[in-house]
This record gives sequence, C-alpha cells and structure tokens, in this order.
Amino acid sequence: MSRPQSPDTESELGDIRHTKPGDLGISDDESQYEGLTATESAPGAELGTGYGSADTADSNETSVIIQGIQGRHPCGYCKSTWGSRSYVMIGSKVSCRNYQRLIDRGWRRSGTLLYLIDHSDSCCCYYPIRAHALEVEARKSDKKVLRKWQKRFGVQNDTNLGFFENVDASGGTELRIVMDTTAYSDEKYGLFEKYQRMVHDDASSAISFREFLCYQLLTYEQPKARDSSAETRKEISRLLPHGLGSYHMCYYIGDELAAVGVIDVLPHYISSVYFFYDPKYSALSMGSYSSLREISLVRTLHALIPSIEYYNLGYYVPECKKMVYKAHWRPADLLDTISFKWVPIERCMDRIAKHPGFCTFDPQLDHRNIVRDKSETLAAAMPALNMPKEVLGKDIDSMVIRLSPMESGNSVIPIPVSRLSTISKQMEDFALQACATMGPDVVKDVRIIL
Ligand SMILES: [Zn+2]
Repeated sequence: MSRPQSPDTESELGDIRHTKPGDLGISDDESQYEGLTATESAPGAELGTGYGSADTADSNETSVIIQGIQGRHPCGYCKSTWGSRSYVMIGSKVSCRNYQRLIDRGWRRSGTLLYLIDHSDSCCCYYPIRAHALEVEARKSDKKVLRKWQKRFGVQNDTNLGFFENVDASGGTELRIVMDTTAYSDEKYGLFEKYQRMVHDDASSAISFREFLCYQLLTYEQPKARDSSAETRKEISRLLPHGLGSYHMCYYIGDELAAVGVIDVLPHYISSVYFFYDPKYSALSMGSYSSLREISLVRTLHALIPSIEYYNLGYYVPECKKMVYKAHWRPADLLDTISFKWVPIERCMDRIAKHPGFCTFDPQLDHRNIVRDKSETLAAAMPALNMPKEVLGKDIDSMVIRLSPMESGNSVIPIPVSRLSTISKQMEDFALQACATMGPDVVKDVRIIL
C-alpha cells in the first residue's frame, strides 16, 4: 500500500489550475450582465420591483467567482489527452461548512480553484471516497509501517490506530509533529521542490507552491465542541490552534522538516489535500504513515468535536492502480453524485462491475436517464449534472441568489431567480447552473462575484 502522490491536485487536473477566466466555457462577454449595469454603478440603490437592495457581505461568508464549464483538460491518471471536463469556480473565501457541503456534492479544491468533474464526459470515473475513520482497523501492511516507526522513533501504538492520543507529543524525542497554518516558508518550499524533483521528476516554482498549497481559501472557524468546559477548549486549541480550516501538518525529525501533510479540517471530515516528504526518508513509508496519522487525528478530534467522523480522500478511480490505497481502509463509502448519498463501497463495486463507465449506485435510478431537460442549456453543457427537483421545481422561483459585481467591493445584490430571465436568458441559465452544481443550501449562502 502506498500513497504515491497527491491524488486530487496536480495529476488529476492537468492544466486546469492555470486556466484564465476568459478561457473557460462561460462567456465573459460583459453584455450578458447588461441588466445589472445600474446596480454596478450605484450599489445600494433601489433596483426596481423584485430586486432586493444591496447589502454588505460579512467577513465569514463564502464568495466565489463562477467560471462555468471548463474546456477539456488532460487526465493525470490514464494520461488521456482527451481527459475530462469540469464545472469550475474560483473561491475567494469559502467557509468550512460550505466547503463540506460542496464535497458532499462531488466538488474538490486545488488551491483556490473549486471543480466538479463532468462524469458524463470523462475518460475515467471519479468517485469521491471517504473512510469511516472511527471504525477503521489497521491492516497487516499498516501494522508493518507502525512497527517501523515504533522501532525508529519509539512511537507507542496498539496497532489499532488508537495510539495517537497526542498529535504533537510522540513517543520519541526525535520526532515532532506541529499543526501549522498554511503560511508559506522557504523551508516548506525547499522540501516541496526536492520532493517534486526527486519523486516525480517534476519542476516546481515558489509561485505555484503558494497558489496550490499555501493560499488560505477556507475561513478558520470555531468548531462545535462536545462541551464548553475550559479543558475541552484548551485541548481543541492545542490540536487545532485556529479552529476548523486548512493546516500544514509538519513532521520534524530532529530539527529538520521531514514531511508536510496538507489537510482541511471540516465539520465532518479531515480531508487529505496533499502530502510531500524528504525522499531520504522513503524507507519509513512516509505516505502510509501520514494517512494513518490523519485517520488517528480524526479519532482524537472526534472525542472533542463529535461531528468529525470521516477521513476524506478525494476522488477514487476504480481502474487506476495508483488509487488502490484509497480503498484500503474499511468501512468506506463512495459518493453517488446523482443522488448525493454516500454508499458503502462494496455495494458500489458490485454496481460498477455491472455498469462500465460512470454510474449511479442507486438501483432506483437509471444512469442512462440522468439527463434532465428543464434547463436545455445546462443539460446540453453537462449532461450528467443532477438537476434536483427541489431546485428546478416550484421552489426555484422563490430562490434568491446573491450577486456581487466585482467593481462594487463587498456590495451584494439579492435577486430572485424568477427575475433573472427579465435581465437575460444567459443570466437565468447561469443561476440554474449555480443551483444545480452547488446545491440550494450553498447557493443561498454564497456571494457570487461577477
Ligand atoms: Zn483518465
């Protein structure tokens, strides 16, 4: 079992991270927003019947720039140049709660770029995967790794993953694990550059490192603790000094930075983003150990923040050998991106075996009929995108989306979806895409920067 490289970032996305807004499928023609011209020039003014008045975005909210359907990008797994397409947003600030919701609808992030793969038009089938960290049992290969660390650093364990009581207090004096912010440092970049060059034969730059692994997209926020005692608060702030959000889990051996695990700590998940290490420690099975450590962190945090239960490993591609390790820990679920239900992986594998190509795991749904026809534009653009009835049914008319013209600073203009068609058909389609891709709960909460 190995953790060869970050699955959810560079390799999977190809060039997508560097795509400029103008290159994306959605038109950047300003004329489509004509109906909003008045509001841009006079934010806060009365906008006419049916429009709300402008208000101001609060500092903790989620703001995104919707880029729409992205052109094709090559696949890092099967090396197909045909690859796949994605629906793409650039996050400005995203709350942990909303990123959690997006993950539960099949989204992932790479730096500030949020993407949802078009399953109907993809070389590989990407299924989001999560392990039930509280119930996972160490397998034979895990125990072997743990023994190595015990021998080398004196890390005590009971081979059942319940041994990491303290994330920053390990058995040996030589090993130290620090929960750091995702702030850039030359030391971290030096390690990243070495790892990319020696392990992946890949060049890197400090700029792409900052964009990809250092930019703080998620807003740090306080978790819901099991109780309000001073002891609990103290323990949480020791493990998560800034609350929920993104961290660099830094492994020091002696005084030297030996590895960094980039993780997002969300209300229900620890989501693994990337891991890089000094190749001179390869013999220690660094990738495997870091995964075990992250699973263990879920358990430790769960005792303090009961909602944290899962270890999220991003996308799983069943036919890809490099991904085998992701399905290593059981119980695990794959996300049905049509019904948005997490389904036990054993049931999914049965269905995948019977239905080659992308499929839903819900036997009630026929994967050949997942194209919805209410929004022709969207269906044509991204046929496998689910258009839930609650979004496209009668409720859609009462939904309000919160738009924020880029020039108007933090001003937000709430507009009922039903009014959008009076501005433009394109604008209406744009809103329907947002509802369908992000889901109604997130759309209500999000400030869409135009
Ligand atoms: Zn592929």
